[in-house]
Amino acid sequence: MTDEPVKITGGCLCGEVRFEAQAFLKSGYYCHCKQCQKSSGAPAEIGIPINAGSLTFTKGEPKYYVSSEVGKRGFCNTCGSRLVWRPNDPANDHWTNLSVCSLDNPEDVRPKAHTFVDSQLPWYHLVDNLPRMREEDESEFLESFPGEPPEAS
Ligand SMILES: [Zn+2]
Ligand SMILES: [Zn+2]
Repeated sequence: MTDEPVKITGGCLCGEVRFEAQAFLKSGYYCHCKQCQKSSGAPAEIGIPINAGSLTFTKGEPKYYVSSEVGKRGFCNTCGSRLVWRPNDPANDHWTNLSVCSLDNPEDVRPKAHTFVDSQLPWYHLVDNLPRMREEDESEFLESFPGEPPEAS
């Protein structure tokens, strides 16, 4: 399924942080990892990949928490809304993903996979036929992101 990047806008609950980006709306995914559960306070985070370098903050800036060796999580410093996951290494910028409900039009998104189902909560039932990947599949999962790596500078 081809997934052309589409311009989207979004922001946090209180409106202090606003952004725009070129997002792959057909490549949303449920992440059931423990970090997404803790940082969102929800059973899973739904991420939307974006084109490398396409994220622009049009109002305010998120604060970042470095949650692993791989990435950091951006949130509004006032209302706490989760907005974005970004790789620590800019060479992996095509892994950047937005939290689906920070978009102004999350209904336009189509999830296509589940990842880290090892830690999916047993009472969180999602009735779909989407592929389900485990922690051990993480590299394969990241390689399936539709965006191209940024140009080496
Ligand atoms: Zn806010
Ligand atoms: Zn996760």
